[in-house]
Amino acid sequence: MTPTHFNADLHCHSTVSDGLLAPAELVRRAKANEVDLLALTDHDEIGGLAEARAEAAAIGLRFCNGVEVSVSWGDDQTVHIVGLGFDAAYAPLIAGLAKVRGGRDSRAQRMAAELDKVGIHGAYEGALKYAGNPALISRAHFARYIVELGHAKEVKYVFDSWLAKGKPGYVGHPWATLEDALSWIRGAGGIAVIAHPGRYRLSKAELHEMFGAFKELGGRGIEVISGSHGDDETQEYARVARKFGFLASRASDFHGPGESWIDLGKLPELPPDLTPVWTELI
Ligand code: AMP
Ligand code: MN
Ligand code: MN
Ligand code: MN
Repeated sequence: MTPTHFNADLHCHSTVSDGLLAPAELVRRAKANEVDLLALTDHDEIGGLAEARAEAAAIGLRFCNGVEVSVSWGDDQTVHIVGLGFDAAYAPLIAGLAKVRGGRDSRAQRMAAELDKVGIHGAYEGALKYAGNPALISRAHFARYIVELGHAKEVKYVFDSWLAKGKPGYVGHPWATLEDALSWIRGAGGIAVIAHPGRYRLSKAELHEMFGAFKELGGRGIEVISGSHGDDETQEYARVARKFGFLASRASDFHGPGESWIDLGKLPELPPDLTPVWTELI
């Protein structure tokens, strides 16, 4: 089996962050979809890894630890850094992620206050009902509440009207620094990967500046295949992987049936000349 025919999916979410399936259910779905290696990468949270790993062992699926760290970059931009294959007991990682999660509740309250001004009432309680835990509230939970109110048909249509930067429910927020995210992941023996580079609203020059800073801090990988990339973006980030010498990742960013564009493991192959990040994980 050549590495490119290996069905790795190294980015997805469970109910431990803003996904719809419990960690064990996600693992069973990955197995049913013939995934060969799965990483669970909840936002700023590693509390689902033990359950996922136990289920993966029980049903014979290869599993690797993951997390998606929210990072502030430049002038109020957010970028996401995925950590893979780390030691989940590394204390600075645990403490750092707890600190990042600690900011979510107050941000959610500010988002709800802004949404209230444009007629979306009760959004904090509404989003919390979906999140279950104030430290885990994400825009995805707000999106579910806005769909529940009937303002949009599906979660994926909510962001452009309500929750993206510049829209009524968006509030800026200080997440982790890139330095901290890299030091937690690398300190824990993991590999840091730039998540869905095609999603950031940065110019090409700004993006390349970020890639350079990431590499200088010891970042090693980039999601070339992503559930949020079209063919042009795949080609673009394959070029970036070659230029910066990054390992290439393959990542659905699956959140749940009906909410995600791409299901677990249902992804195109990596361009064959790139080095897959999983060569260092298996
Ligand atoms: P947060 O970390 O609270 O800012 O929320 C970010 C989450 O919102 C992402 O991880 C996705 O789950 C979701 N999200 C952001 N933008 C979109 C979009 N355009 N369509 C669907 N979901 C999105
Ligand atoms: Mn999410
Ligand atoms: Mn993300
Ligand atoms: Mn994600």
